[in-house]
Amino acid sequence: MFDAHAHLQDPRFREVYESWLEAATHANITGICSCGTSPGDWEATRTLAHHPFPFRLVTGFGVHPWYVRDLPADWQERLEAIIVQEPTAVIGEIGLDGLRDTTSWELQESILRWQLDLAIKHNRPVVLHGARAWGRLVDVLKSYANQLPGFMAHSFGGSLETLKELSRLGGYLSFSGTLCNVNATKVRLAAQAVPEDRLLVETDSPDLFPLGGKTLPTDKADKPVNHPGNLSLVCNTLAALRNLAPEIVAEITTDNAKRLFK
Ligand SMILES: [Zn+2]
Repeated sequence: MFDAHAHLQDPRFREVYESWLEAATHANITGICSCGTSPGDWEATRTLAHHPFPFRLVTGFGVHPWYVRDLPADWQERLEAIIVQEPTAVIGEIGLDGLRDTTSWELQESILRWQLDLAIKHNRPVVLHGARAWGRLVDVLKSYANQLPGFMAHSFGGSLETLKELSRLGGYLSFSGTLCNVNATKVRLAAQAVPEDRLLVETDSPDLFPLGGKTLPTDKADKPVNHPGNLSLVCNTLAALRNLAPEIVAEITTDNAKRLFK
């Protein structure tokens, strides 16, 4: 199984290193895409890129819409330098966010557009965040999509119409542990409607701990750390929703991730 979106550089993983790695191995994780979110975690993400993991690690670098304010003056130079030095890195996590309305759309969009241009310049796939902003994100993407080598919408939660537009633009749609909540009707309907060759699964760990997820022995009772081992649960849920065997969903989504990340 390929976990198409996580943040392994998060300090919460450092404390549980042995146990999350063991859970990932047990769940037969063969690949993870781990994304940085701001200049503050790019170095930690880079360190991971050179760590000998028992699975394939794809790293991503970018500025998440939550962190577009107060960026250091040289962030663009630094980001481009990392992209040049890490030839297999992707651009992400980048995008638009309507959940926390603390930043203007104008600022979010200009930072996003600059990073999309960077992805095109260096021919890198893109990992997108679009919480409560999927329609806006599609509008921006329209003028970039055909020049990008690929892109994915992580933890997709948009409408069926947006889903169609994103797949028509050549995008992949990734589903997280939100899927495990039977009340997440919109997400579950979307997960049934995505074309098979566009489907991805992710944990977004250490966040989005799924309902019924496995805790790690090191967890504090009130704050369980989500981890890539919980991808089995996402995969099983998706399989049930699409009336397929879990092994088939694992195979399809792994193939799709390999195609996207090359
Ligand atoms: Zn994320």
